Amino acid sequence: MRKIPYGRQDIDADDIQAVTEALQSDYLTTGPRVAEFESSVAQFCRATHGIAVANGTAALHAAMFALDIGPGDEVIVPPMTFAASANCVLYMGGTPVFADVDPDTLLIDPKAVESKVTDKTKSIIGVDYAGQPCDWDALKAIADASGLALVADGCHALGATLDGRPVGTLADMTVYSFHPVKHIATGEGGMILTNDDELNARLRLFRNHGITSEARARDEAGEWFYEMTDLGYNYRITDIQAALGVSQMKRLPQFLEKRRAIAAFYDKAFADTPVRPLATREGALNAYHLYVIRIPNRDQIFTKLRAAGIGVQVHYIPVHLHPYYKEHLGTAKGMFPVAEEAYEQILSLPMFPALKEDDMQYVVKTLLEMVSG
Ligand SMILES: *Cc1c(COP(=O)(O)O)cnc(C)c1O
Repeated sequence: MRKIPYGRQDIDADDIQAVTEALQSDYLTTGPRVAEFESSVAQFCRATHGIAVANGTAALHAAMFALDIGPGDEVIVPPMTFAASANCVLYMGGTPVFADVDPDTLLIDPKAVESKVTDKTKSIIGVDYAGQPCDWDALKAIADASGLALVADGCHALGATLDGRPVGTLADMTVYSFHPVKHIATGEGGMILTNDDELNARLRLFRNHGITSEARARDEAGEWFYEMTDLGYNYRITDIQAALGVSQMKRLPQFLEKRRAIAAFYDKAFADTPVRPLATREGALNAYHLYVIRIPNRDQIFTKLRAAGIGVQVHYIPVHLHPYYKEHLGTAKGMFPVAEEAYEQILSLPMFPALKEDDMQYVVKTLLEMVSG
C-alpha cells in the first residue's frame, strides 16, 4: 500500500557531498559554513542580518530575549499555531495574550490584535500560517501607534512575499525553522533575520551563553579573554548542519516552485467541491509549507485517509486549549471561537517538493470519493 507523508525533506547527492566536506573540515561546530548559511538566507530574504541557531524554537526564544521580554510584559500571539510561538514568551517570564484569527486565512486578525493591546503590551508575534504573510501593514500600524516590536514567526513562510516584499523584511525580526518538514532542512536548525544592528548583537550574544566573543574568532585573533555579560544559552547550530543548509538554499527556488505547483493542482481539483482550501490574501505570494483544507466530518475523513496510506495532519490544536495553558494561564474553550471552529474542520494534505504526480492524483481522488460518498 502507498504511504505518503504530509511533509518530508528532499536530500540529493550535492547535499550529501556538502555535509561530507564539512565533516572532513576543521570545524564541526561554529565555523565558516555558519556565516555562509546566514548570509545565504539573509540575502534570499533581502534582510541585513541572519543569526543561525539550534532550532526554530530557540530562534523564537532569542527574539523574546532580544526584546527584553520579562515578567509583567504581554506579547500578543495567535492561538492557531504551534505551541512554540507562545511558549517563547513564557520562557522569558512574559505573558502570551491570544488574539483570534481570520476565518478565511487563519492568520492573526489585526482587529482582534488591536483589542488586546494594553499598556503592558511589548510585542506582537504574527505567524505566517501555512505559508502566507500576515497582514503586516495593519499589524505595523498597530505596533507603531503603541511602540511595539513586531516579530514574524515565519517558520511556514520562507520564500513568501507580500506585494513583492519578502517575508524576512516585514517585521523587526523574522524567525525560521529548518526542521525536515519545513522549506529547507538542516536536521534541527533555525534562524532569526533582522535589519537592526542592536538586535543582531543581542541575538548573537544569546545563542552563545551571553559571551561577548565566539571561540573561533578568539582563536583566530590569538586571544583567550572573554566575558559573559548576559544569561544566554548554548543555542549554536553546527557547521555540519550549516553545510546542509547552504546546499539546500541553492535548491530553495525549485522547492518553492514545486510547492506552488502542487497547490495549483489541488486548487483546481477542489474547485466546486465540498473541500474548501484556505484563501490566500490579495498581494500575498504563498510559500505553502502546508496545504490546509476545511472539510465537513474531518475526524472521520482523517481516519479514512490515514487508512488509505495518506499521511494527513491537523495543524493545529489551538494553543490555548493545551492543558498547560489552561492550567497556567486560565485559558478555556470558547475564548477564541474562530480558531476553535477551524480546528474542528482543518486538515493538512501532503505537500512537499518530492511529492509525485501520481500520489497527488491519488490524494485528490481518494479524498473526493470520501466527501461525496
Ligand atoms: C516548526 C515551527 C516552529 C518550531 O521550529 P523547531 O525548529 O521545530 O523548533 C515554531 N513555529 C512554527 C509556526 C513552526 O511551524
